[in-house]
Amino acid sequence: MEPHVVEIKSTVYITPDVKRFVLTKPKGFKFKPGQGCDIAIDEDGWRSRRRPMTFTSLPTSRSLEMIVKIYPEHKGVTARMALLRKGDRLLLHEVFGTIQYKGPGVFFAAGAGITPFLSIFRDLHKRKELKGNTLIYSNKTGHDVILQEELAKLLGKRYLNIFTRERVIGFRDRRIDRELLIALVQDFDQYFYICGPERFVSDLQRMLTELGASADTLVFEA
Ligand SMILES: Cc1cc2nc3c(=O)[nH]c(=O)nc-3n(C[C@H](O)[C@H](O)[C@H](O)COP(=O)(O)OP(=O)(O)OC[C@H]3O[C@@H](n4cnc5c(N)ncnc54)[C@H](O)[C@@H]3O)c2cc1C
Repeated sequence: MEPHVVEIKSTVYITPDVKRFVLTKPKGFKFKPGQGCDIAIDEDGWRSRRRPMTFTSLPTSRSLEMIVKIYPEHKGVTARMALLRKGDRLLLHEVFGTIQYKGPGVFFAAGAGITPFLSIFRDLHKRKELKGNTLIYSNKTGHDVILQEELAKLLGKRYLNIFTRERVIGFRDRRIDRELLIALVQDFDQYFYICGPERFVSDLQRMLTELGASADTLVFEA
């Protein structure tokens, strides 16, 4: 399939290393909340360097949105995306993704792993079906949290931040471990959605299963 050529309508940094891209939406372009596609930069020398990214916009929005963590030290695609501006173009390949909403549960995200959940939460909110879902969002520090205000507004008390390196007096840095899971999750018979670095996903899968969650209630990118 020929990739879709889309134009950048606007960009803005929403944390020191995370950039939001609003893109034109090709006619008839379809995706489900939680899905994404391989993208490439439409410039000489970059078209074959595909990277997976997730749509954060609603499927019904007139534009597409992506939220991208920039890794300047890799000198790869995201470092190049740091330089892209309004009017520059991206190539979108086939839509894919296995993270889809199945029913109320607990969402575990780390860093840029929040992206598939953003589209899911926005969609559920629009359909007034967000109630009963909880987000546990892990980041290094408060500065790294993506769209904190929107998440707090959407989920209220069912939104919990975990900081692994806050280093603030009176604040306990921690990871999501078995002890924390027991304290936070009373019911292991519900859906668990997990997205983040590979190690984060595998650790949570293991701990949740050990605590009684059944494998078919765990939703993650395979
Ligand atoms: C299904 C899926 C959906 C995704 N959706 C999103 C999204 O919506 N937003 C988003 O920001 N990201 C998303 N990602 C992650 C994103 O694809 C990667 O961050 C991106 O490919 C990095 O590309 P790059 O060319 O800049 O870096 P690459 O050079 O491709 O590096 C990619 C990874 O390799 C490792 N690595 C490589 N070089 C170094 C180095 N020098 N030092 C340390 N580590 C290194 C890191 O673990 C890094 O994350 C998604 C990934 C998957 C699998």
